[in-house]
Amino acid sequence: MTNVSAQASHGNGRNCVITRRACFSASHRYWLPEQSKEENEAAFGLCALAPGHGHNYELIVSMAGELDKNGMVLNLSAVKTAIKNEITSQLDFHFLNETWPEFDLSTPKGCLPTTEALIKSIWNRLKNHLPLTSLRLYEHTNLWADYLGNPMNSYLTIRTHFAAAHRLARAELNQEQNEAIYGKCARPNGHGHNYFVEITVKGEIDPRTGMICDLSALQGLIDELIVEQFDHTFLNKDIPHFQTCVPTAENIALYISDSLIKPIKIIGAELHKVKLQESPNNAAEVFADQSMMNIPSKVLEESMFSH
Ligand SMILES: [Zn+2]
Ligand SMILES: [Zn+2]
Repeated sequence: MTNVSAQASHGNGRNCVITRRACFSASHRYWLPEQSKEENEAAFGLCALAPGHGHNYELIVSMAGELDKNGMVLNLSAVKTAIKNEITSQLDFHFLNETWPEFDLSTPKGCLPTTEALIKSIWNRLKNHLPLTSLRLYEHTNLWADYLGNPMNSYLTIRTHFAAAHRLARAELNQEQNEAIYGKCARPNGHGHNYFVEITVKGEIDPRTGMICDLSALQGLIDELIVEQFDHTFLNKDIPHFQTCVPTAENIALYISDSLIKPIKIIGAELHKVKLQESPNNAAEVFADQSMMNIPSKVLEESMFSH
């Protein structure tokens, strides 16, 4: 076998996506010098406190390309070096507001080092070194941003939790018929789940606040319209919608999406996706823009990151 045929045998020209994870710890403070103390505290809450607070960030870098003669998209040591040189060595154990010039708030072009602003900066610094397809940055397990290189669409996800009971049964069917469809989930007295919900919004990042929308307003909407309404309820009895609609994971996800679309628009962002994790074994995802449901490849490309 010649070298040429050996090279061609790796993937036969097909692309492969690879991911690399990198972690760093950094602090930041949300404080705009042109605003008063009261305005900053009203806008950013505890994040405005001096001298700041910190997070253990987790960065997931996705890259794509054909396989080389060694059977790899990229040599992993080159990937590690690029991420270390361009990102982690500059940010790890640093105060983000004083690292990169784009976060220098004393200049008019500076913006707050939010998760969504930070991931956009990371993209711009890595894009000339690595064949990026998407980036994800976790600030913690319940807040992360995704970026795919389009400044018009940054993604921010908040993960929250509620516990609720439900029973899956259609009113017009008898018990035997319901159990034939829904199995144990049709048992007369119901059962419960610890639900986890991921709510993803998208939009353009504000050049000064570094935010897609007011984070505390978004958190407030989710707490008020979802958690407060659903937590510790029997969905079929306590939520009027589910008195007539079977509360499957799919229907709950759709109801959450329908409840949030308009309020999120009012605070300046767009609801992108709701993912409802009912148990470790099953989840339902709905896209607020249903037209996306007809374009599986685009859905996969833009939305179904499964890191
Ligand atoms: Zn923070
Ligand atoms: Zn159930």
